[in-house]
Amino acid sequence: TIGMLAIDQDGNIAGACTTSGMAYKMAGRVGDSPIIGAGLFVDNEVGGATATGVGEEVVRTVGSFLIVELMRQGKSPQEACEEGVRRIIAKNKDHTDFQIGFIAINKQGETGGYCIQPGFTYRTYSEVGHRNNPASSYITI
Ligand code: ASP
Repeated sequence: TIGMLAIDQDGNIAGACTTSGMAYKMAGRVGDSPIIGAGLFVDNEVGGATATGVGEEVVRTVGSFLIVELMRQGKSPQEACEEGVRRIIAKNKDHTDFQIGFIAINKQGETGGYCIQPGFTYRTYSEVGHRNNPASSYITI
């Protein structure tokens, strides 16, 4: 999955995601990416979140919606992503040998990301106030 979250100078949030689905998927399988609330959710009053990894697990927790709701309740994007991953681990105590990664942004433009398996990389990019020198960083968890 490629998931993207953006915020403009007025604080408007947008998100998108695209995927090829899982390898060897059953014909007709619908993953999390096309289901709003699962692979992607944006509430312009709060923030946005998007997911990658085993879509079935993200659908079971309505993961991106969950993360936005956790931010609505006051969690930072980082804390919300960590709690989203914890919920999925809690439902799969006997096997967590699969990957889930979430990223999130809130109305203040703060970002966060978390995953089950180490090695998940996401990128932040900002042009605001840095027209000739945009701030960009790769974050690997
Ligand atoms: N989340 C996608 C799916 O389950 C897979 C991916 O991360 O590309 O369809």
